[in-house]
Amino acid sequence: MSDSLISSAYSQALEVIGSVEPRIAEATRQELADQRASLKLIASENYASPAVLMTMGTWFSDKYAEGTVGHRFYAGCQNVDTVEAIAAEHARELFGAPYAYVQPHSGIDANLVAFWSIIAHRIEGPWLQKFGAKNVNELTEEDWESLRHEMGNQRLLGMSLDAGGHLTHGFRPNISGKMFHQQQYGTDPETGLLDYDAVRAKAREFQPLVIVAGYSAYPRRVDFAKMREIADEVDATLMVDMAHFAGLVAGKVFTGDEDPVPHAHITTTTTHKSLRGPRGGMVLAQEEYASSVDRGCPMVLGGPLSHVMAAKAVAFAEARTTEFQAYAQRVADNAKSLAEGFLTRGARLVTGGTDNHLVLLDVTSFGLTGRQAESALLDAGVVTNRNSIPADPNGAWYTSGVRLGTPALTTRGFGHDEFDKVAELIVDVLSNTEPGATKAGDPSKASYRLGDGVAVRVKAQAGELLDKHPLYPGLELS
Ligand code: PLP
Repeated sequence: MSDSLISSAYSQALEVIGSVEPRIAEATRQELADQRASLKLIASENYASPAVLMTMGTWFSDKYAEGTVGHRFYAGCQNVDTVEAIAAEHARELFGAPYAYVQPHSGIDANLVAFWSIIAHRIEGPWLQKFGAKNVNELTEEDWESLRHEMGNQRLLGMSLDAGGHLTHGFRPNISGKMFHQQQYGTDPETGLLDYDAVRAKAREFQPLVIVAGYSAYPRRVDFAKMREIADEVDATLMVDMAHFAGLVAGKVFTGDEDPVPHAHITTTTTHKSLRGPRGGMVLAQEEYASSVDRGCPMVLGGPLSHVMAAKAVAFAEARTTEFQAYAQRVADNAKSLAEGFLTRGARLVTGGTDNHLVLLDVTSFGLTGRQAESALLDAGVVTNRNSIPADPNGAWYTSGVRLGTPALTTRGFGHDEFDKVAELIVDVLSNTEPGATKAGDPSKASYRLGDGVAVRVKAQAGELLDKHPLYPGLELS
C-alpha cells in the first residue's frame, strides 16, 4: 500500500472523527506524535500495521454474532462467519494447532475460557454422564449443587507473580486465585531460573487439575516438553499462556520443546504483543478440548468483536510471511544486544541475561525502586514499566525492577547498535537519579530526583535514534 494512500486515509478519517468530537481527533493525533517521539520499551506493546489498524475501524463493529461459525444466535452473520473462519484457519496453520478459537476479547478472557473449558471437559462432562444428564438444566437441584461444589473446588498450579507469572495464573486478587485452590511455583533463588524438579515436586504434592506455564516477566525460554511430562505424571491439564512470546512461536524462533503448542493441552495468547496484531485474545487446543473451548461463548464471553476477529485474520496473514519470521528473530537478537549493553555497563539483570524478547533490570543496584526508575526514565522519554523481581523487597506496587522488551522498537527497525545505545541511555538516567526523601528523612519509595540536564541530554540522543527509524514512515497527517 502506498504511503500517500495511508496518509490520506488516516487524514480523512480524523477529519470525520473531528467533525463529531474534535477533542478525540486531537488526542488521536497526539497519541501518534507521542508514540513517535518516545523509546517504547514496554515488553507487551508493539506497533500494528496500518492494515491491521484499519481493519478494526469498520462496520463489522456493529454486528452481533454470539455463537460459532455457522451456528449463531443472530441472523445475518454470513460475513462474520467468513471472517471468523479465515482467522481460525490462519491461526491453526500458523501455530500448527488442531483447533483455534479466535473470539476472546483479551488475554484475560482467553484464560477464563481456557479455565472453564478445562473444568467443563474434566469435571462437568464426566459428572453429567454419571447423572445421566445431557446438560446442567437436566440435573436436580441436589445434583447440581454437588456438581457446582466439585467444579468450584479444583486446584491450579501457576508461576508466581514475582517470578514472572501473570495475575491470571492463580494470583489471589485475580479471579483465577479465587475460583481455584491455588499454589504457585517460583524460580531458583540463586539463578532466577525455572527449577523443573521443584515444579515437579510441588505438582506431586499438590495434585492440581491445571498446571499453567507461561509468563509476563521471565526473561528465559521454557521447556514445555518437560512441563507436559510433569502434568502427565500428576494427570493435570497443561495450559500454556504464550501471550508474551506468541510472536516468537509464530516466527519460528521457539521450536521443538520451546514451542508450547504441540505440548500443551490448551494454549492461550493475546494477539497484540510480540504477535503484532490487534488487541485481543485466542485459545488454541488439542482436539479433545476443542468442543469445550468452542463453548467460550456463552460460557464466559458475550458477542465476539467481529471487527477485531477480522483484524486478527489480517495480522495472522502477516505473521505467516518470511518477513515476520525475520522480524521475530531480530526481536530475540535485539534483546540479547540490550542485555549485553546493560551487563557491560555493570547493571544487574534477573537471571543474568535473556533468551527471549525481554530483559528484567534489577534497579536496586542504582539505589532505586522500580517506581522511581520508571518515573525518571519517563521524564527522559523512555517508556517502560516497573516490575517485581523474585523475592522483591519492595512489593508489587513499588517493585525493584524495570521490565524492558524489544518487540516495538524492533518493528521500527532498531538493531544491535541502537539497542546498545538504549542500554547506555537507560544507565545514564538511572545512575543520575537519586531517591527522594520524606519529611522524616527516610527515603521515599515513590519520589526521586533526576539530575540537572539529564532528561534533555537523553531525549536528544534518543531523538537521533528515533529519527533514524521513524514510526509509520511515510504516514503524514494533513
Ligand atoms: N497473560 C499474560 C501472560 C499477560 O502478560 C497478559 C497481559 O499483560 C495477559 C494474559 C492479559 O492480557 P490482556 O491485557 O489482553 O487481558
